[in-house]
Amino acid sequence: VKREGEFTYDIEWHNTFEGLGKAVEKLSLMSRKACIVTDSTVGPLYLNTVSRQLSPLFDKITSFSFPSGEAQKTLDTVKKLYTHLIEEHYERKDILIALGGGVVGDLTGYTAATYLRGIDFIQIPTTLLSQVDSSVGGKTGVDFDCFKNMVGAFHQPRLVYMSMETLHTLPDVQFSCGMGEVLKSGLIRDLPYYQWTLEHSRELLERKDEVLIRMIQGSCLIKKTVVEHDPTEQGERAVLNLGHTIGHAVEKLKNFEMLHGQCVALGTVAAAYISKERGLIDSEALSVIERGNRMFGLPCRFEGLALEEVLSATRSDKKMEQGKIKFILLNPLGHAVVDKTVTDDEMMAAIGYIQGE
Ligand code: NAD
Ligand code: ZN
Repeated sequence: VKREGEFTYDIEWHNTFEGLGKAVEKLSLMSRKACIVTDSTVGPLYLNTVSRQLSPLFDKITSFSFPSGEAQKTLDTVKKLYTHLIEEHYERKDILIALGGGVVGDLTGYTAATYLRGIDFIQIPTTLLSQVDSSVGGKTGVDFDCFKNMVGAFHQPRLVYMSMETLHTLPDVQFSCGMGEVLKSGLIRDLPYYQWTLEHSRELLERKDEVLIRMIQGSCLIKKTVVEHDPTEQGERAVLNLGHTIGHAVEKLKNFEMLHGQCVALGTVAAAYISKERGLIDSEALSVIERGNRMFGLPCRFEGLALEEVLSATRSDKKMEQGKIKFILLNPLGHAVVDKTVTDDEMMAAIGYIQGE
Protein backbone atom coordinates (compact mmCIF):
# COMPACT_ATOMS: atom_id res chain seq x y z
CA VAL A 1 0.00 0.00 0.00
CA LYS A 2 1.33 3.39 -0.97
CA ARG A 3 0.74 6.01 1.64
CA GLU A 4 0.12 9.59 0.64
CA GLY A 5 3.34 11.53 0.95
CA GLU A 6 5.59 8.54 0.57
CA PHE A 7 8.43 9.28 -1.79
CA THR A 8 8.44 6.72 -4.50
CA TYR A 9 9.86 9.02 -7.16
CA ASP A 10 13.40 10.01 -8.12
CA ILE A 11 14.92 13.42 -7.76
CA GLU A 12 17.88 13.98 -10.07
CA TRP A 13 20.42 16.81 -10.08
CA HIS A 14 22.48 17.54 -13.19
CA ASN A 15 24.59 20.33 -14.66
CA THR A 16 22.64 20.29 -17.94
CA PHE A 17 19.61 18.75 -19.63
CA GLU A 18 21.81 16.09 -21.25
CA GLY A 19 20.62 13.38 -18.84
CA LEU A 20 16.91 14.13 -19.12
CA GLY A 21 16.10 11.58 -21.83
CA LYS A 22 17.75 8.82 -19.84
CA ALA A 23 16.04 9.83 -16.60
CA VAL A 24 12.61 9.74 -18.25
CA GLU A 25 13.37 6.49 -20.08
CA LYS A 26 14.06 4.82 -16.73
CA LEU A 27 10.44 5.41 -15.71
CA SER A 28 9.28 2.94 -18.42
CA LEU A 29 6.22 5.07 -19.05
CA MET A 30 3.30 3.70 -21.04
CA SER A 31 2.52 7.15 -22.40
CA ARG A 32 2.90 8.02 -26.05
CA LYS A 33 2.22 11.71 -25.64
CA ALA A 34 3.78 14.36 -23.43
CA CYS A 35 2.65 17.93 -22.91
CA ILE A 36 5.34 20.37 -21.78
CA VAL A 37 3.78 23.18 -19.77
CA THR A 38 5.88 26.32 -19.44
CA ASP A 39 5.64 30.12 -19.19
CA SER A 40 6.52 32.99 -21.50
CA THR A 41 9.93 33.56 -19.88
CA VAL A 42 11.14 29.97 -19.50
CA GLY A 43 9.73 28.66 -22.79
CA PRO A 44 12.02 30.71 -25.07
CA LEU A 45 15.03 29.70 -22.94
CA TYR A 46 14.61 25.94 -22.49
CA LEU A 47 11.61 24.51 -24.36
CA ASN A 48 13.62 23.51 -27.45
CA THR A 49 16.38 21.83 -25.47
CA VAL A 50 13.90 19.89 -23.35
CA SER A 51 11.77 18.83 -26.35
CA ARG A 52 14.87 17.63 -28.17
CA GLN A 53 15.82 15.45 -25.20
CA LEU A 54 12.35 13.95 -24.98
CA SER A 55 11.31 13.56 -28.60
CA PRO A 56 12.86 10.07 -29.09
CA LEU A 57 10.73 8.80 -26.18
CA PHE A 58 7.25 9.88 -27.33
CA ASP A 59 5.15 9.69 -30.49
CA LYS A 60 4.07 13.27 -29.98
CA ILE A 61 5.11 16.21 -27.81
CA THR A 62 2.91 19.27 -27.50
CA SER A 63 3.52 22.41 -25.50
CA PHE A 64 1.33 24.81 -23.60
CA SER A 65 2.66 28.20 -22.53
CA PHE A 66 1.09 30.98 -20.49
CA PRO A 67 2.31 34.47 -19.50
CA SER A 68 4.79 34.26 -16.61
CA GLY A 69 3.84 35.45 -13.13
CA GLU A 70 1.75 34.56 -10.09
CA ALA A 71 -1.27 36.40 -11.60
CA GLN A 72 -1.67 33.51 -14.06
CA LYS A 73 -1.77 30.79 -11.39
CA THR A 74 -5.54 30.54 -11.70
CA LEU A 75 -8.36 28.17 -12.65
CA ASP A 76 -8.67 30.16 -15.90
CA THR A 77 -5.22 29.01 -16.96
CA VAL A 78 -6.01 25.45 -15.82
CA LYS A 79 -9.14 25.59 -17.98
CA LYS A 80 -7.11 26.60 -21.03
CA LEU A 81 -4.72 23.74 -20.33
CA TYR A 82 -7.65 21.25 -20.01
CA THR A 83 -8.89 22.50 -23.39
CA HIS A 84 -5.47 21.91 -24.93
CA LEU A 85 -5.31 18.40 -23.47
CA ILE A 86 -8.79 17.51 -24.69
CA GLU A 87 -8.19 18.93 -28.17
CA GLU A 88 -4.94 16.99 -28.42
CA HIS A 89 -6.68 13.81 -27.18
CA TYR A 90 -4.59 13.34 -24.06
CA GLU A 91 -5.49 10.09 -22.33
CA ARG A 92 -5.13 8.67 -18.85
CA LYS A 93 -1.66 7.18 -19.46
CA ASP A 94 -0.19 10.33 -21.04
CA ILE A 95 2.01 12.71 -19.12
CA LEU A 96 2.45 16.39 -18.29
CA ILE A 97 5.86 17.97 -17.85
CA ALA A 98 6.19 21.15 -15.81
CA LEU A 99 9.07 23.27 -17.11
CA GLY A 100 9.38 26.43 -15.03
CA GLY A 101 9.31 27.89 -11.54
CA GLY A 102 6.83 27.24 -8.75
CA VAL A 103 3.96 28.83 -10.64
CA VAL A 104 4.28 26.41 -13.55
CA GLY A 105 4.93 23.49 -11.18
CA ASP A 106 1.92 24.15 -8.95
CA LEU A 107 -0.44 24.72 -11.87
CA THR A 108 0.76 21.74 -13.90
CA GLY A 109 0.66 19.47 -10.86
CA TYR A 110 -2.91 20.53 -10.10
CA THR A 111 -3.98 19.95 -13.69
CA ALA A 112 -2.32 16.52 -13.62
CA ALA A 113 -4.06 15.71 -10.33
CA THR A 114 -7.50 16.48 -11.75
CA TYR A 115 -7.47 15.79 -15.51
CA LEU A 116 -9.21 12.43 -16.06
CA ARG A 117 -9.09 11.95 -12.26
CA GLY A 118 -5.32 12.14 -12.24
CA ILE A 119 -2.51 11.55 -14.72
CA ASP A 120 1.27 11.43 -14.26
CA PHE A 121 3.52 14.46 -14.27
CA ILE A 122 7.21 15.28 -14.19
CA GLN A 123 8.70 18.36 -12.55
CA ILE A 124 11.54 20.29 -14.15
CA PRO A 125 11.89 23.18 -11.70
CA THR A 126 13.90 26.10 -13.10
CA THR A 127 14.07 28.54 -10.17
CA LEU A 128 16.08 28.00 -7.01
CA LEU A 129 12.90 28.40 -4.99
CA SER A 130 11.06 25.69 -6.88
CA GLN A 131 14.08 23.38 -6.77
CA VAL A 132 14.46 23.55 -3.00
CA ASP A 133 10.86 24.00 -2.03
CA SER A 134 7.88 23.38 -4.29
CA SER A 135 9.30 20.32 -6.08
CA VAL A 136 9.33 18.28 -2.85
CA GLY A 137 6.21 17.49 -0.89
CA GLY A 138 3.52 16.91 -3.48
CA LYS A 139 1.51 20.07 -2.89
CA THR A 140 -0.11 21.42 -6.05
CA GLY A 141 -2.65 24.14 -6.57
CA VAL A 142 -3.76 27.51 -7.85
CA ASP A 143 -4.85 30.84 -6.38
CA PHE A 144 -8.53 31.79 -6.19
CA ASP A 145 -9.56 35.45 -6.16
CA CYS A 146 -7.06 36.99 -3.77
CA PHE A 147 -6.51 33.77 -1.83
CA LYS A 148 -3.16 32.09 -2.44
CA ASN A 149 -3.13 28.34 -3.07
CA MET A 150 -6.79 28.12 -2.08
CA VAL A 151 -7.64 25.31 -4.49
CA GLY A 152 -5.31 22.35 -4.72
CA ALA A 153 -4.47 18.70 -4.28
CA PHE A 154 -1.68 16.47 -3.06
CA HIS A 155 -0.20 14.81 -6.14
CA GLN A 156 3.33 13.42 -6.35
CA PRO A 157 5.38 13.72 -9.53
CA ARG A 158 6.94 10.65 -11.17
CA LEU A 159 10.31 12.38 -11.45
CA VAL A 160 11.93 15.68 -10.51
CA TYR A 161 14.81 16.67 -12.79
CA MET A 162 16.90 19.73 -11.96
CA SER A 163 19.44 21.21 -14.32
CA MET A 164 21.86 23.74 -12.82
CA GLU A 165 22.13 25.51 -16.17
CA THR A 166 18.71 27.00 -15.54
CA LEU A 167 20.07 28.84 -12.50
CA HIS A 168 22.52 30.74 -14.72
CA THR A 169 19.71 32.68 -16.38
CA LEU A 170 17.80 33.34 -13.16
CA PRO A 171 17.68 37.04 -12.15
CA ASP A 172 19.60 37.87 -8.93
CA VAL A 173 16.48 38.81 -7.01
CA GLN A 174 14.88 35.42 -7.79
CA PHE A 175 18.08 33.70 -6.73
CA SER A 176 18.03 35.55 -3.38
CA CYS A 177 14.44 34.52 -2.83
CA GLY A 178 15.41 30.89 -3.24
CA MET A 179 18.25 31.44 -0.78
CA GLY A 180 15.66 32.69 1.72
CA GLU A 181 14.05 29.23 1.70
CA VAL A 182 17.46 27.50 1.78
CA LEU A 183 18.52 29.42 4.89
CA LYS A 184 15.14 28.68 6.44
CA SER A 185 15.56 24.92 5.99
CA GLY A 186 18.93 25.01 7.75
CA LEU A 187 17.52 27.03 10.61
CA ILE A 188 14.63 24.66 11.23
CA ARG A 189 16.46 21.31 11.22
CA ASP A 190 20.16 21.45 10.39
CA LEU A 191 22.52 24.03 11.88
CA PRO A 192 25.70 22.54 10.31
CA TYR A 193 24.01 22.84 6.91
CA TYR A 194 23.14 26.47 7.65
CA GLN A 195 26.75 27.19 8.60
CA TRP A 196 28.02 25.37 5.50
CA THR A 197 25.81 27.61 3.35
CA LEU A 198 27.25 30.78 4.89
CA GLU A 199 30.79 29.44 4.51
CA HIS A 200 30.21 28.80 0.80
CA SER A 201 28.41 32.07 0.10
CA ARG A 202 30.95 33.24 -2.47
CA GLU A 203 30.80 30.10 -4.62
CA LEU A 204 27.03 30.03 -4.27
CA LEU A 205 26.65 33.65 -5.33
CA GLU A 206 28.90 32.89 -8.31
CA ARG A 207 26.52 29.98 -8.99
CA LYS A 208 29.13 27.25 -9.18
CA ASP A 209 27.27 24.11 -10.24
CA GLU A 210 28.89 21.61 -7.89
CA VAL A 211 28.28 23.74 -4.80
CA LEU A 212 24.74 24.56 -5.94
CA ILE A 213 23.94 20.87 -6.31
CA ARG A 214 25.21 20.10 -2.81
CA MET A 215 23.21 22.96 -1.37
CA ILE A 216 20.00 22.02 -3.19
CA GLN A 217 20.36 18.36 -2.21
CA GLY A 218 20.77 19.36 1.42
CA SER A 219 17.69 21.53 1.35
CA CYS A 220 15.56 18.91 -0.44
CA LEU A 221 16.64 16.31 2.09
CA ILE A 222 15.57 18.49 5.02
CA LYS A 223 12.21 19.18 3.44
CA LYS A 224 11.74 15.51 2.55
CA THR A 225 12.49 14.43 6.11
CA VAL A 226 10.04 16.92 7.60
CA VAL A 227 7.30 16.16 5.07
CA GLU A 228 7.64 12.38 5.34
CA HIS A 229 6.89 12.60 9.03
CA ASP A 230 3.76 14.57 8.25
CA PRO A 231 2.63 14.28 4.63
CA THR A 232 -0.74 16.03 5.00
CA GLU A 233 0.30 18.80 7.37
CA GLN A 234 -1.25 17.66 10.64
CA GLY A 235 1.59 18.87 12.79
CA GLU A 236 5.35 18.83 12.29
CA ARG A 237 5.26 20.01 8.68
CA ALA A 238 4.19 23.39 10.02
CA VAL A 239 7.81 24.12 11.03
CA LEU A 240 8.44 24.74 7.32
CA ASN A 241 6.43 27.91 7.85
CA LEU A 242 9.20 29.53 9.87
CA GLY A 243 9.17 33.24 9.04
CA HIS A 244 5.86 32.96 7.21
CA THR A 245 3.41 34.45 9.72
CA ILE A 246 4.91 37.93 9.87
CA GLY A 247 6.50 37.42 6.43
CA HIS A 248 3.12 36.86 4.76
CA ALA A 249 1.65 39.88 6.50
CA VAL A 250 4.39 42.14 5.12
CA GLU A 251 4.12 40.44 1.71
CA LYS A 252 0.41 41.10 1.53
CA LEU A 253 0.75 44.77 2.49
CA LYS A 254 3.76 45.38 0.25
CA ASN A 255 1.94 43.67 -2.60
CA PHE A 256 4.32 43.47 -5.51
CA GLU A 257 7.06 45.56 -3.96
CA MET A 258 8.65 42.69 -2.03
CA LEU A 259 8.87 39.08 -3.14
CA HIS A 260 7.87 36.03 -1.08
CA GLY A 261 11.41 34.84 -0.31
CA GLN A 262 12.44 38.33 0.84
CA CYS A 263 9.44 38.51 3.15
CA VAL A 264 10.14 35.06 4.58
CA ALA A 265 13.72 36.10 5.34
CA LEU A 266 12.38 39.18 7.09
CA GLY A 267 9.78 37.14 8.98
CA THR A 268 12.53 34.77 10.10
CA VAL A 269 14.34 37.66 11.78
CA ALA A 270 11.09 38.53 13.57
CA ALA A 271 10.59 34.92 14.70
CA ALA A 272 14.20 34.79 15.87
CA TYR A 273 13.65 38.00 17.83
CA ILE A 274 10.70 36.47 19.71
CA SER A 275 12.77 33.33 20.33
CA LYS A 276 15.55 35.49 21.72
CA GLU A 277 13.18 37.45 23.96
CA ARG A 278 11.90 34.15 25.36
CA GLY A 279 15.47 33.03 26.04
CA LEU A 280 15.31 30.13 23.55
CA ILE A 281 18.25 31.47 21.54
CA ASP A 282 20.86 34.09 22.46
CA SER A 283 21.49 37.44 20.82
CA GLU A 284 24.55 36.08 19.00
CA ALA A 285 22.22 33.61 17.22
CA LEU A 286 19.98 36.50 16.18
CA SER A 287 22.93 38.35 14.66
CA VAL A 288 24.07 35.20 12.84
CA ILE A 289 20.67 35.06 11.18
CA GLU A 290 20.81 38.72 10.18
CA ARG A 291 24.33 38.28 8.81
CA GLY A 292 23.14 35.27 6.77
CA ASN A 293 20.33 37.30 5.24
CA ARG A 294 22.62 40.18 4.27
CA MET A 295 25.18 37.82 2.74
CA PHE A 296 22.60 36.66 0.22
CA GLY A 297 21.01 40.03 -0.45
CA LEU A 298 17.99 39.39 1.75
CA PRO A 299 16.40 42.07 3.95
CA CYS A 300 16.45 42.24 7.77
CA ARG A 301 14.28 45.36 8.04
CA PHE A 302 11.28 46.89 6.25
CA GLU A 303 9.82 50.36 6.21
CA GLY A 304 6.67 52.22 5.28
CA LEU A 305 4.09 50.18 7.19
CA ALA A 306 2.42 50.82 10.55
CA LEU A 307 2.90 48.27 13.35
CA GLU A 308 -0.83 47.67 13.86
CA GLU A 309 -1.35 47.23 10.16
CA VAL A 310 1.18 44.41 10.03
CA LEU A 311 -0.19 42.81 13.20
CA SER A 312 -3.74 42.73 11.90
CA ALA A 313 -2.56 41.28 8.58
CA THR A 314 -1.14 38.29 10.48
CA ARG A 315 -4.65 37.42 11.68
CA SER A 316 -5.95 36.49 8.24
CA ASP A 317 -3.13 33.97 7.95
CA LYS A 318 -4.46 30.54 7.05
CA LYS A 319 -1.99 28.88 9.40
CA MET A 320 -4.47 29.23 12.23
CA GLU A 321 -5.98 26.51 14.33
CA GLN A 322 -9.09 27.28 16.37
CA GLY A 323 -8.37 30.98 16.11
CA LYS A 324 -4.80 30.60 17.38
CA ILE A 325 -1.82 31.35 15.20
CA LYS A 326 0.60 28.45 14.88
CA PHE A 327 3.77 30.47 15.27
CA ILE A 328 7.14 28.89 14.52
CA LEU A 329 9.96 29.63 16.97
CA LEU A 330 13.58 28.54 17.14
CA ASN A 331 14.40 26.36 20.14
CA PRO A 332 17.36 26.31 19.93
CA LEU A 333 19.05 27.67 16.79
CA GLY A 334 18.84 24.95 14.13
CA HIS A 335 15.59 23.50 15.49
CA ALA A 336 12.15 24.97 14.88
CA VAL A 337 9.07 24.27 16.99
CA VAL A 338 5.37 25.07 16.65
CA ASP A 339 4.03 27.39 19.36
CA LYS A 340 0.45 28.50 19.85
CA THR A 341 1.08 30.83 22.78
CA VAL A 342 2.76 33.78 21.05
CA THR A 343 0.90 36.90 22.15
CA ASP A 344 0.02 40.08 20.26
CA ASP A 345 2.48 41.97 22.47
CA GLU A 346 5.31 39.67 21.51
CA MET A 347 4.41 40.01 17.85
CA MET A 348 4.21 43.80 18.13
CA ALA A 349 7.67 43.90 19.68
CA ALA A 350 9.05 41.68 16.90
CA ILE A 351 7.42 43.74 14.15
CA GLY A 352 8.81 46.85 15.82
CA TYR A 353 12.26 45.27 15.81
CA ILE A 354 12.27 44.60 12.05
CA GLN A 355 10.75 47.99 11.25
CA GLY A 356 12.96 50.85 10.13
CA GLU A 357 16.55 51.61 9.02
P1 NAD B 1 7.76 31.78 -10.64
O1 NAD B 1 7.41 30.43 -11.16
O2 NAD B 1 6.80 32.87 -10.90
O3 NAD B 1 9.20 32.20 -11.20
C1 NAD B 1 9.70 33.49 -10.94
C2 NAD B 1 10.05 34.22 -12.24
O4 NAD B 1 11.25 33.68 -12.79
C3 NAD B 1 9.00 34.09 -13.33
O5 NAD B 1 8.90 35.29 -14.02
C4 NAD B 1 9.56 33.01 -14.25
O6 NAD B 1 9.11 33.13 -15.58
C5 NAD B 1 11.04 33.30 -14.14
N1 NAD B 1 11.93 32.16 -14.37
C6 NAD B 1 11.73 30.88 -13.99
N2 NAD B 1 12.81 30.13 -14.26
C7 NAD B 1 13.72 30.95 -14.84
C8 NAD B 1 15.04 30.76 -15.34
N3 NAD B 1 15.65 29.58 -15.24
N4 NAD B 1 15.68 31.82 -15.88
C9 NAD B 1 15.07 33.04 -15.94
N5 NAD B 1 13.84 33.28 -15.47
C10 NAD B 1 13.17 32.24 -14.92
O7 NAD B 1 7.98 31.74 -9.07
P2 NAD B 1 8.83 30.83 -8.08
O8 NAD B 1 9.50 31.77 -7.20
O9 NAD B 1 9.62 29.81 -8.78
O10 NAD B 1 7.70 30.06 -7.29
C11 NAD B 1 6.71 30.75 -6.58
C12 NAD B 1 5.45 29.92 -6.59
O11 NAD B 1 5.72 28.66 -6.00
C13 NAD B 1 4.32 30.53 -5.80
O12 NAD B 1 3.14 30.46 -6.55
C14 NAD B 1 4.21 29.65 -4.57
O13 NAD B 1 2.90 29.56 -4.07
C15 NAD B 1 4.68 28.33 -5.10
N6 NAD B 1 5.23 27.45 -4.07
C16 NAD B 1 4.74 26.20 -3.98
C17 NAD B 1 5.24 25.32 -3.03
C18 NAD B 1 4.71 23.91 -2.97
O14 NAD B 1 5.03 23.20 -2.03
N7 NAD B 1 3.95 23.46 -3.95
C19 NAD B 1 6.24 25.73 -2.17
C20 NAD B 1 6.75 27.01 -2.29
C21 NAD B 1 6.23 27.87 -3.25
ZN1 ZN C 1 7.54 30.04 1.46
